[in-house]
Amino acid sequence: MDYKAAFRNAVELVREEGRYRVFADLKRHRGDFPRATWTQDDGSESEIVVWCSNDYLGQGQNPVVLDAMHAAIDANGSGSGGTRNISGTTHYHVELEHELADLHGKDAALLFTSGYVANEAALATLQKVLPGLITFSDALNHASMIAGIRNGGGQRHVFRHNDLDHLEELLAAAPADAPKLIAFESVYSMDGDIADLAGTIALAKKYGALTYLDEVHAVGLYGDRGAGVAERDGVMADIDIVEGTLGKAFGVMGGYIAGDTDMVDAIRLYASGFIFTTSLPPALTAGALASVRWLKAHNEVREHHQERAATLKAMMKDAGLPVMDSSVSHIVPVMVGDAVHCKLVSDMLLQDHGIYVQPINYPTVPRGTERLRFTPTPFHTDAMMRDLVASLESLWARCNIARVGGVAA
Ligand SMILES: *Cc1c(COP(=O)(O)O)cnc(C)c1O
Repeated sequence: MDYKAAFRNAVELVREEGRYRVFADLKRHRGDFPRATWTQDDGSESEIVVWCSNDYLGQGQNPVVLDAMHAAIDANGSGSGGTRNISGTTHYHVELEHELADLHGKDAALLFTSGYVANEAALATLQKVLPGLITFSDALNHASMIAGIRNGGGQRHVFRHNDLDHLEELLAAAPADAPKLIAFESVYSMDGDIADLAGTIALAKKYGALTYLDEVHAVGLYGDRGAGVAERDGVMADIDIVEGTLGKAFGVMGGYIAGDTDMVDAIRLYASGFIFTTSLPPALTAGALASVRWLKAHNEVREHHQERAATLKAMMKDAGLPVMDSSVSHIVPVMVGDAVHCKLVSDMLLQDHGIYVQPINYPTVPRGTERLRFTPTPFHTDAMMRDLVASLESLWARCNIARVGGVAA
């Protein structure tokens, strides 16, 4: 076996499809979000505006969060020193789990090293703990949910995205006495659409299923205290298991689930991805704790965030740019519909306009739906938006004539 050639071929395959991933090398500026310095391969540096960060509220720069992290390092040192079971449970972990349980109105919460790990571990472990569990999964669920559902090894059915009729068809066809779980997200981050939580809960009740809701793109952002769309819609109590991240709107890192005491305790005792890994360091846990607490009390930031997203969408629509209609959230996706063009537009924005937006290509989204995904924050000004829209208009005109061939408005 020529291993080297095999690896090269695998890479070439991706490159030929225009999906070769190049990471932008960035230095964020403390206190000057969303500006950053971009370093190119040749070492040259330029100043850019980040338009695709999942640090949706700029919490990664909030002095309250940074002070808590500095203080935790000074008080505790760097790492946690172990798994949760073997000396790696700090007081911050305990406090943060209480805080998250309170945020979601649940009995208990459990921290993981990331949202990905939380989904993978929880969804696989639920199938271990509940033998014969049938999982009903939305077609656009995140890769981490799919991984967990698959790794659990149980029966699974995929329902068409946000299609409750299809979900009901599948639920009705399953044995009435089998344990069931509906796994879905609130905000789908690539289309920016939002699930019908109340409708899904009604079906779960009718067919005796548990609900598992990924609120990764909603925690910190929706609801009066930032618990997510379930809080906004007044249905928190009817979601059995909520999953979230500390790495997006909360601006730090880590993931969690929250729910009933016995459920959380079972996951704690059975989930390999929870048990056999070093716990989050004190500085991250302290920073997340400060961030969750601060956002609970600052609903005006969420209102400002929604206003910024609405303003950008309106400006893009006025300019005739193809903003995706499905987007009813803080996410502003603009359809390109082709991997090569998507990358090209993104490259030109960065090189010529100082605007950084990563192209979103397969397998993150289906082929033919490649897009640019903008995430305006409360720190993106009107002037930045005007500059963005003008840049897009000029590129759209240029690429439309030269290469896009009718994809644009
Ligand atoms: C990003 C993401 C995750 C993973 O969260 P991390 O904390 O980044 O690992 C889970 N679910 C969805 C829907 C996501 O977009």
